[in-house]
Amino acid sequence: MTYDMVLRGAVVTPDTTHLGGWIAVRGETIAAIGTGDAPAAKVVHDFGDAWILPGGIDAQTHAGSYLGLPGLEPTSRAAICGGVTTMIEMPFDHPTPLSTLALFDAKVAAVESLSYCDVALYGTLAPHQATDAMYDLAEAGVCAFKISVCESHPTRFPRIPAEQQLAMLQVAAELGLPLGIHNEDQEIVRFNTERMRATGESSLKVHSSCRPEAAELAATALFLELAAHTGAQAHIVHISTPRGFELLERYKQEGFATTGEICVHYLIFDPDIHGETLGALIKVNPPIRAGARDALWEQIRAGRVECVSSDHSTMSLENKLSGTIFEAGPGVPGIESLMPVLFTGLQAHGMDAPSMMASVMAERPAKLFGLWPKKGAIAVGADADFAVMDPTPFVYDSAKAHDGVNWSPFDGMEMSAAVVATFVRGTQVWDGRTVSGTKGFGRFLPRARTADASAILRARASAA
Ligand SMILES: [Zn+2]
Repeated sequence: MTYDMVLRGAVVTPDTTHLGGWIAVRGETIAAIGTGDAPAAKVVHDFGDAWILPGGIDAQTHAGSYLGLPGLEPTSRAAICGGVTTMIEMPFDHPTPLSTLALFDAKVAAVESLSYCDVALYGTLAPHQATDAMYDLAEAGVCAFKISVCESHPTRFPRIPAEQQLAMLQVAAELGLPLGIHNEDQEIVRFNTERMRATGESSLKVHSSCRPEAAELAATALFLELAAHTGAQAHIVHISTPRGFELLERYKQEGFATTGEICVHYLIFDPDIHGETLGALIKVNPPIRAGARDALWEQIRAGRVECVSSDHSTMSLENKLSGTIFEAGPGVPGIESLMPVLFTGLQAHGMDAPSMMASVMAERPAKLFGLWPKKGAIAVGADADFAVMDPTPFVYDSAKAHDGVNWSPFDGMEMSAAVVATFVRGTQVWDGRTVSGTKGFGRFLPRARTADASAILRARASAA
C-alpha cells in the first residue's frame, strides 16, 4: 500500500538513531519506520545525513503575556521556523490570566484561528480564587497549572500565598496534574529592590543582587515541602542554579513527584561575561547566575532536567531598553533559536545532541504535560511532527526571524545545526527559508486524562 509521504535521513527514535533510516506517514500519523529501502510513497523527502528529530515541544511560551491572544500568531510562526511543533503556553495573558472557563474557551478559539503549530494550555487561579475552577479547567483539558509566588503584576502575574499553594497542590494531586511555580521569595526580592532603587544604580548586576539564589531556592524548598504533603507533581519552571536541581533530586530520591525545567538562556549566558554588552536584554526572573553554566549543562547530562524551554516573550526592544534596569521588562524571545542553541550547546559539551534533544525537547515534556504518546517521539501511531536539523553552521540573525519581535540576545551566536524543515501532523510547514504552514492549522491539545481524574470529574459533574 502506498504511503502519503516518506522522509529519509538519520531518524532519531527514543531508543536509537537510525542512520539511513526512513519514516512512512499516512495522513497525520507515523505509519512505519525502518532502515534501508523505503516503501513507495506519493511524496519523498530525502534529507541525506540530516537528523530527523521528533517535533520540538517548547515547555514554556508566553505568547499572550504582552500582546494578548494575538501574540499566538507571531510566536507560533516563529515556533515552526525553529522546529517547534507544540507550544506549552503559559496562562499569564494580557490583560487577564487564564483562570476561568470563559477565558479558556477564548484562548482555544484563538489557537484554532491563529496558531501555526499545536498548543497545550496551562491554567492558573487568581489570588484567593476558589479551587473549583481547577476542576472546570481540568475537565476542559488544561495540561497543568502554574502560579507565581512573587508578584510581577497585580492581576496578570500575581503572588499566590502559601495557604493557597497548599490548597492548589491538593487539587492538583487529586487530578494528577502538575502544578508549576515561578519560584522567588517575594519579601527578599521586594526588600532588596527598594534598597537598590534608592542607590540610583542601574545595571544587570544590580538586578541580580536584588534576586539572589537564596530567594529562588527558599521559594523552591517551601513549594517542594508543601507538595510533598499532598503527593502533587511539583514542577519548578525556572531553575537557574545547579543547587535547584540538587534540591529536587533529594525529593525524587524520597519518592516525590518533582520535575525541574531550565530555560535555555540560563545555559548560555553569564552576567559577568555578557552583562556589559547585553545588559537589560538578558534581564529575566529569576536572573541568570554568574558562573553557573557548566554545572547546569552537567545537570542535563545527569538526566535531572525534565525539559529545556525558551520562556519566549514577545517583549519589544523599547520595553527592554527604556528606563533603568528596574523598569526594563523581564523576558527574552527565543522560540525560533531554541533548538539550534540547545543542539549547539549539547554538542559543545560532548553529549549526543540528537538523542538528548529527543528526550528533553520531546519525550519528557510530552509525558509531563499529558500529550504522550501522540506527541513526543518518532514512533508508529504518533503524530507525524518532525524537526529536521542539518549540520550546517550558521550565525543567528534576529532580522530574519519570524517572531515579530526583531531582536534577540542570541544575535551573532554561531550555531552548529539549522532547522531545514518542519512538519506538523504530516504537513510540511517550513523548508529552511519559507513558511508554507498557515495560521489556524494548529490545534489545541487537551491533556490525556487518567482514569482516576476522569472518575473524580464524573462524580463531581453528577453531584452538581
Ligand atoms: Zn516564564
